[in-house]
Amino acid sequence: MTPIFASRPNVYTGSPLDRVAPRRNDAAWIEAVLEDPTSLFVPVWRGRVLVRGAAEARPEAVFPAGSAGPALRAVATSWVLLGIWHERAAFAVDLSEMEDPAPLLANLPDQDGAFEDMRSLAGSLSAEEAAVLAHAKGLLHWRARHRFCGVCGGACEPQSAGNVMACTQCGTHHFPRTDPAVIMLVTRGDRVLLGHSQRFPRATMYSTLAGFVEPGESLEEAVAREVAEETGVRVGRVHYHSSQPWPFPASVMLGFYAEGLSEEITIDPAELSDARWFTRAQLSQPEAHGFSLPRPDSIARRLIEDWMAAG
Ligand SMILES: [Zn+2]
Repeated sequence: MTPIFASRPNVYTGSPLDRVAPRRNDAAWIEAVLEDPTSLFVPVWRGRVLVRGAAEARPEAVFPAGSAGPALRAVATSWVLLGIWHERAAFAVDLSEMEDPAPLLANLPDQDGAFEDMRSLAGSLSAEEAAVLAHAKGLLHWRARHRFCGVCGGACEPQSAGNVMACTQCGTHHFPRTDPAVIMLVTRGDRVLLGHSQRFPRATMYSTLAGFVEPGESLEEAVAREVAEETGVRVGRVHYHSSQPWPFPASVMLGFYAEGLSEEITIDPAELSDARWFTRAQLSQPEAHGFSLPRPDSIARRLIEDWMAAG
């Protein structure tokens, strides 16, 4: 099994931000850049991000600045310093408690965007914008779920420019988390194993298997366990390919190729409604064979395409 390397960066990687972790605790500097009219704000509303041009299929992220900054912070449930972008500070702001953000947006200067589901846009956003939006979305998701301490139940307050939630009762510091999930293309000669789940957005879509890493488990063990649980197929050697931040809502996808040691498929109906071995010829013309591949912005698609190119 020859290793296959990533052909190009995955969507949601390649952030232009300098995360300036050492400066997060410089309160005077944070205060100054919060008020700086050149600072950029990345609004998120109920998991949706602010873009213009979505209807024309040319989405472009909108990052309000100037007088929009104080207006957004005034209604935000939380804000977090993301980092420095071309010498300008960038903050994520969570507007989720607003019932309808449209009137607020209408009052911001030079603002013609709307909140959209990032999954429908990521393939056509610029790589830099997609990465910044993913960062903002993932971090605000974490913030919204750590208002109280998991140790003692006390209220938490933000520290480090919003990048730490500190318990006001017991002092525990809670840090941003991202949940590791393995995603793997099982290969056997000229065929690969793909599954269909009723949870998929399209009835015809077949994709790589995936699952969360459990405590006390290596990534390789998680790959083998998930494949066995979902399809009954045994896997041998496992090779790393690449990873992808996946803010839907809070994962990092760790992509692998896994060598299939057996062929017989026994699906777990709780996870999958079907799984099959597909040939390269089938994968090169999915529509002609009655199925479709995962979305172009996904690491699942990248694993499949890089395997086909290597053949
Ligand atoms: Zn506590």
